Amino acid sequence: MMPAQPLPDTHAPFAASKIVTVDVAAGGHERAYDIVIGDNILSQAGSLIASKLGKRRVLIVTDSNVAPLYQARLEAVLSAASHSVLPTAIIPAGESSKDFTNLQALLNHMLQQAIDRKSVVIALGGGVVGDLAGLAASLVMRGVDFVQIPTTLLAQVDSSVGGKTGIDTPHGKNTVGAFFQPKLVLVDVALLDSLTKRELKSGYAEIVKYGLIKDKAFFDWCATNGAQLLDGNRAAQIHAVTSSCQYKAQIVAADERETGERALLNLGHTFGHALETITGYGNILLHGEAVSIGMVMAFKLSAQLGLCPHDDAYRMRDHLAKLGLPVMPPSFPYYNIDQLLGLMKQDKKAEAGKLVLILARGIGQAFISRDVKDSDVRDIWAEFLPK
Ligand code: NAD
Repeated sequence: MMPAQPLPDTHAPFAASKIVTVDVAAGGHERAYDIVIGDNILSQAGSLIASKLGKRRVLIVTDSNVAPLYQARLEAVLSAASHSVLPTAIIPAGESSKDFTNLQALLNHMLQQAIDRKSVVIALGGGVVGDLAGLAASLVMRGVDFVQIPTTLLAQVDSSVGGKTGIDTPHGKNTVGAFFQPKLVLVDVALLDSLTKRELKSGYAEIVKYGLIKDKAFFDWCATNGAQLLDGNRAAQIHAVTSSCQYKAQIVAADERETGERALLNLGHTFGHALETITGYGNILLHGEAVSIGMVMAFKLSAQLGLCPHDDAYRMRDHLAKLGLPVMPPSFPYYNIDQLLGLMKQDKKAEAGKLVLILARGIGQAFISRDVKDSDVRDIWAEFLPK
């Protein structure tokens, strides 16, 4: 790991902090919560939870990859802070665990441990654990307190903030779920050390996304410091995670249920989800990789429609490519433009079968567009798909 180096101070109040509190004012103060971000926060989890929620009965949910790495440590610090630790639930790692079978098994486990209204569910894992455990926490005993300890970069900068929980069904990804805000989110960037480089890069795409949507200065910061972040520089990670959580918190606070501005967070996602669906939500394309390609396509389309400078489209593509993120769809035998377009129209963000795309007037200037012609979207797919 590279030693921590001083970083440009683009967001002055946060750059020097080790623990940062972000107030997510989700739909009114009673559901506001803190995101505490820092290096080695896991060791303080017991006391941080106690100071926010008191000493409680706690039930950890984690997955089969994360459990051997961090379960014992978390159980120990929770016990040391006088919480009563119920037996941990371990789900199989991977997207396929976000289903009815695992939801039912998890609820059964919680009920068998006599979970009560005063208990706390703690999700220790990536977005899969967070989404499933959050949904279970919203349902069991009509809802118990929920704490997120996200362990992937994607979960730290995206899925743990905003209160969306859910599972996949044969009808599509995240088609059953609930808006259920956690009481506290604890982000320990030290947990990223055990993540594969590929997963780390995939999460990084979501960080770059915030700069592309809202803040050119943050994109510039990414262009300068992204490589250090991926090399394990803790100061860079804390800065980027903090900024990302703030952007998401601002957007979510303004639009918890995604009726307006929150849709901007879907930059790259409508193209990306179509690619993920066709390639099977698996190892061919991780979520952040699909988002990386989708954002490049959205900027290229914006440039070709005369909305965005071509230089901005090249610049963002070059940054993602330089850090090893894909900027073109991978080779795959079954691409079909009609099907891709159909999937984009079925996307849950589409309105009555009409395409809703996030385009950009430049880096940091994303907007919602409802009037892109099908023929322009077909052309961009034809340009990007491997020949
Ligand atoms: P994930 O939870 O599957 O984690 C990726 C892999 O990394 C898994 O194999 C996991 O076991 C492993 N892992 C996790 N933490 C680790 C660590 N510290 N060290 C080593 N290995 C570790 O995937 P993800 O990318 O975190 O999340 C994807 C999920 O998030 C999708 O289901 C997606 O729908 C959901 N999501 C939800 C929201 C939301 O707002 N709720 C937003 C974006 C994505």
